[in-house]
Parts: sequence; C-alpha cells; structure tokens
Amino acid sequence: MLWAGLASAQQYDIVLANGRVLDPATNLDAVRYVGIQAGKIAAVSETPLSGRTVVDAKGLVVAPGFIDLHSHGQTPENYRYKARDGVTTALELEVGVSPVREWYAAREGKALVNFGATSGHIPARMAVMHDSGGLLPRDAAVNRVATPEERREIFDRVRHGLEDGALGIGLGIAYVPKASREEILDLFQLAAERKVPIYVHMRNSGPVEPGVVDSLQEMIADAAATGASLHVVHITSMGLRETPLCLRMIEGARKRGLDVTTEAYPYTAAETDLASAIFSDGWQQRMGDVSYGNLQWVATGERLTADTFAKYRKQGGPVIIHVIPEEIARFAVADPSVMIASDGVLENGKGHPRAAGSYARVLGRYVREQHALSLMDAVRKMSLMPADRLGMKNKGRIEVGADADIAVFDPARVIDRATFENPAQYSDGIPYVLVQGTFVVKDGALQENVAPGQAVRR
Ligand SMILES: [Zn+2]
Repeated sequence: MLWAGLASAQQYDIVLANGRVLDPATNLDAVRYVGIQAGKIAAVSETPLSGRTVVDAKGLVVAPGFIDLHSHGQTPENYRYKARDGVTTALELEVGVSPVREWYAAREGKALVNFGATSGHIPARMAVMHDSGGLLPRDAAVNRVATPEERREIFDRVRHGLEDGALGIGLGIAYVPKASREEILDLFQLAAERKVPIYVHMRNSGPVEPGVVDSLQEMIADAAATGASLHVVHITSMGLRETPLCLRMIEGARKRGLDVTTEAYPYTAAETDLASAIFSDGWQQRMGDVSYGNLQWVATGERLTADTFAKYRKQGGPVIIHVIPEEIARFAVADPSVMIASDGVLENGKGHPRAAGSYARVLGRYVREQHALSLMDAVRKMSLMPADRLGMKNKGRIEVGADADIAVFDPARVIDRATFENPAQYSDGIPYVLVQGTFVVKDGALQENVAPGQAVRR
C-alpha cells in the first residue's frame, strides 16, 4: 500500500489535464492526462495526475509540437511567430547554412524554439565564387560555371558542414542555374555516403519545358543513381498545375523503393528575392504565363509594373508571387503524402504570411472550415512525418520518453491572422506551446526570458 501511495503521489513538473491527445504515431485520439518531467513526456494517463503546474486542457487538442522543415527565418523575431503558430522546431533545410559550426553557436542557449540547418550548397557556392548576394545569390554564383578548383572547394565546404553536425545537404538549383548536372550529382553522392537527406529546390518550375517535370526527373534519377534520400521542397510553387503529376511521380518512385518525400505551404503565393535568378529572362513563361501584376513588392505592398519591376530588380528584395491556383494549394495540403512546411521569413514585420500563419491556417481553414483533410492527418503532416524525415524518434509524438515539444490548440477556434498586407500577426487559438518541457506560450501569451530551444544536429 505504501508503494502504491508513493506512486500515485508522484508530482510532475507540468500536467496537461483532460485534453484530447492526438498522437499520429499510434493514432491515439482520446482524452488523457500528460505528465511532463525534466523536458520529457513522462506519463500519458487515463486518470488524473498531479503536477506542480496543471493546465486545464479540457476541450483543447494536445498534439506533438509542429516541426517546420523549411524556415528561413532564424531570428528571435521569427521564432516568436513560429511559437505562436505551434511550431516547436524550425529548421533551415533548403538554402541551408555555411559555415555550419558558427551558425549553431550563434543560437545555442538563446533560442525560443529548437533550431537546425543543413549544410548549404548555395552559401558555399556564394562564398567560394565571391557572390555579392544575401540569403540568395545574385551575380557570380548565378552567372558562372564553377572552375574545377572552385567545384572542389564548394564540395569540401558542404562536406565540412556535415562533419559539423548539419542535418543534411541543402540545394537550390534554380538559384544557381550554372551548377552542372555533375556538380549536383556529386552532392547526391555525398548525401548517400553520409546517409543524410538532400533537400532540394529544383532546377525549374512550371509547365513549360525546361520545367518542373524534367527537373523532378533529374532529382529522382540522381536519387536512384546514388541511393540518396531526397526531399523536394514546396511542390506547389514548383509544380503549379503540374503538381498532381509531380505527386504521381514521387509516389511511383517511393513504390519502387526510393526514399522521396515532399512538402507544401498552404498559400496561393510564393516569395523570393527579385534580384535572384528566378526572374531572369523568360520568368513569365516559366511561371505559366503570369504578368507584372502578379508580383507584390514586400516593402510597400504595391503590385509591380514593367517599370517598377526593372527598378526593384536592380535593387533586390523580397517579392511575393501570386501564382499558385487555390485548388492546387488545397490539393497538396489535403494529400496525405505531402508534409506542411512554411518556407517563411519575416524581417522587421515584413514578408509572407506563411512565416506566421502556416500551421494555424491548415488547422482552421483546411481542416475545420473546408474539411479538406482530417485533424489527425493534419497533425501527422506537421509533426510525425517531418520527424520521420529527420530520423528523429524522440519528436513528433505524444508518448512516454518523447521530448516534451507540445502544441495545445482549440480546434474550434485555431486560425491564422497573418495576411499579405499585414503578415506580422500571430495565429489565434493556440494557447499553450511547450519546447523541451518549458512553456514558450502560456495562456495565449509569449513567455518572456525563456530560451529552451535546443540545437537539432545529426
Ligand atoms: Zn525555395
């Protein structure tokens, strides 16, 4: 009796009481009490637990924290919007970073959410070839074929990044169109040898060749030829109306044993730097016949004309591209094979609303309002699937022993508020978010002076 008494008297650091637990790994969908101890989930119980802090989660969903595989925003400002959107891990996997060690060191012990990055081909190529761009290249790395010596240096930088713990290799071929097929294949080979995924923004987009289909064929062929695990980023902005065909190709590759995955953000517009190679001659055709008016300059919100396009392209800066049909966005969000990833970045409150609202938008707009997919499938696409892509068994789950990265949301109320006109607006209806067992959002408010985010490394 004494032992039983002691056991029932166990007090957890935090208890999330009486919430509807959704665990996509086991398909558990039931009311439970979740006990959190020392940053881990220590109990998932049908009966009440006692805790030093107890949150009444009645009527709320308790889900694994969302894992954003595509988060360019890696600053305190961006991490706040991530946390309010239910994201507990924000990763820069497409462009990636270089050098890797310094990037991690700059965030260690200071981050609101967990963070991590790939070793990036783009930043390596920019450094070696002395490109003058910022996040994305705009001259030397765009316009030149690398010399054999530069190729070796770029490759070595990417390899060193993996040795420093990067989560894989990041590739944005469209931004460095002079990167040869061989330069790309060599990086797939490296990914295969190191057993890390390669995350790719493909060579071309859209329906007109060279376009998305031949680009995806290149990627699938490189994966098949090397054995690398391939993750194709933002399939809707690449595929446009060919997105269903692209998903068919990916599904076929998977059925034949290749490890190929993909992701999408739940919006009808893309965003990139107007000075980048995306807007080199022929961009209108490549995007499937769009015009200047489809472009929205982020700094002012204005739609572009031929004149302002020329002016701002010289200057460089973020531009939103209204180009993805709504039915394609919805199709990808609803497809069970497509993960949700934001591709977002905010800078001083300016940017694309996907940086702040992607996850709440899927839950509010596509699950609750449109019934485009089930709540469990949505949670799976935001948590378990990205955790599996990363090979992380301790995230994306509400199970004993898993990291206590948890999003608690109101399924009747959760919604994005960020818009193209005003992207810097927190999502609503996500009152509690825990990172490694620490509240980063509590009673709907961001917590001050906490930095529980940990480095996610290989
Ligand atoms: Zn991209």
